Amino acid sequence: MAEFYGNYIDGRWVPAKSGRRSPSLDPATGEVLGEVARSGPEDVDEAVEAARRAFRTWRLTPAPKRGEILYRAAELLRDRKEELAAMLTREMGKVLAEARGDVQEAIDITYFMAGEGRRQFGHTVPSELPDKWAMAVRDPIGVVAVITPWNFPTAIPSWKIMPALVLGNTVVFKPASDTPILAAMLVGILEEAGLPPGVVNLVFGGGEEVGEALLRHPGVDMISFTGSVESGQHVAEVAARHGLKRVSLELGGKNAVIVLADADLDLAVDGIIWSAYGTTGQRCTACSRLIVERAVAEELEERIAARARSLRLGHGLRPETEVGPLINRTALERVKSYVEVGRREGARLVVGGEEAEVPGLAGAFFQPTVFADVRPEMRIAREEIFGPVLSLIPVDGLEEAIEVNNGVQYGLSSSLYTRDVHRAFRAIRDLATGIVYINAGTIGAEIQLPFGGYRMTGNGHREAGIAALDTYSEWKSIYVDFSGRLQRAQIDTH
Ligand code: NAD
Repeated sequence: MAEFYGNYIDGRWVPAKSGRRSPSLDPATGEVLGEVARSGPEDVDEAVEAARRAFRTWRLTPAPKRGEILYRAAELLRDRKEELAAMLTREMGKVLAEARGDVQEAIDITYFMAGEGRRQFGHTVPSELPDKWAMAVRDPIGVVAVITPWNFPTAIPSWKIMPALVLGNTVVFKPASDTPILAAMLVGILEEAGLPPGVVNLVFGGGEEVGEALLRHPGVDMISFTGSVESGQHVAEVAARHGLKRVSLELGGKNAVIVLADADLDLAVDGIIWSAYGTTGQRCTACSRLIVERAVAEELEERIAARARSLRLGHGLRPETEVGPLINRTALERVKSYVEVGRREGARLVVGGEEAEVPGLAGAFFQPTVFADVRPEMRIAREEIFGPVLSLIPVDGLEEAIEVNNGVQYGLSSSLYTRDVHRAFRAIRDLATGIVYINAGTIGAEIQLPFGGYRMTGNGHREAGIAALDTYSEWKSIYVDFSGRLQRAQIDTH
């Protein structure tokens, strides 16, 4: 019988109140990996109540002590890296090397935030009045609902949960329905690291049942959400109507690599292939547009097409596999439909474009795909496809390339290949994305810098780095007047 994973509420692993369960599947084979609780609003109520109770004491636990628990969690994550990565490949489908990267990102952010237990710097500033002290400190927000997608099942929840915890918030975590087992493993590690009951709670279930209940719950103070733009807009609207909760949104991308004629094309090809087809194109930072200076467009097209054609599809645990499956059939149908859109719009299909057969595997595999002669106004050049589809857009120079790059609703990551330092710095200044790479692909962010995007990629908050501390805390400004008399700011000073 498949192993069962319950919700984790107030320090106990429990089934859904309804007793319902749902399976978690290996996307490459369709094999049932386990079963998890299928929760409803009644389970959310319990989890939120537990988080509210725990908040009373957790916020008063000294931050260095909170950090020490995270440090132990980081050690456990590091010790279990292989076990987590193997399950991550099985449950999400990405190849093992990338699965290890996903776990490593969780390890990195957990160590980083453990250190914030002894930092969380505030401000002390001079007062404009004599005998008066002025400073600002961080305060936790309260109960944070963490709602995450399936494409980085260990890294993304860790980016959210670790800063939330070290700042003194408590958490109710709703992972994506496609990757629940990884969520249970992460929460299990936090439990083992010594997190008190109720500080982190885990509730499995769909967006409409569990996610929606969190958005509306009066006991939830903040929603930290990563997912699609459509879901993110809905989250923001509902959370605004239900208590004007703080909402942090990390949404889609339509990221571009720009290649100028003077670029090192060998280097560029490696970066483009890695960014476009790594994780089967299912990264928010995946490269799905290649904006290329006309002089090298034909050569680049040939080289990219040859490499795309030769990529080996298969189960992510097999060492020879370079590209795993899409997460499920719905994703496959979506990618297929975009290929149709591209064809109808008049783009030239160079390679791929079809569902792929992988002997012995029942999963949703899709051929790495390249479209050429794509114009910026086409839908395949503007909308997020979230699959292994790359669109080549020829341009006449850097200025036009930047305009095309910035001309979409998303603004997460961009990259420029050139040997010209002048043009590189112009691009750094003018590319309107939250992440800019020079002579590297669009993927591979490091956790010590802010992560997030311009325009509809988000709503201005950032994950990771010390920027995440702002996302998960309130600022409290404190004035202490030790003059012993009434002193009026702005009035008695002039
Ligand atoms: P999704 O929006 O379908 O789901 C994300 C999460 O939201 C899931 O847990 C889902 O159950 C939940 N959800 C759905 N409807 C909800 C509702 N009404 N109320 C509350 N919760 C709800 O996205 P997905 O398909 O899981 O993930 C892919 C998307 O995520 C892509 O657009 C990708 O670009 C984006 N993404 C962004 C980042 C980033 O940091 N910017 C990182 C990874 C993925």
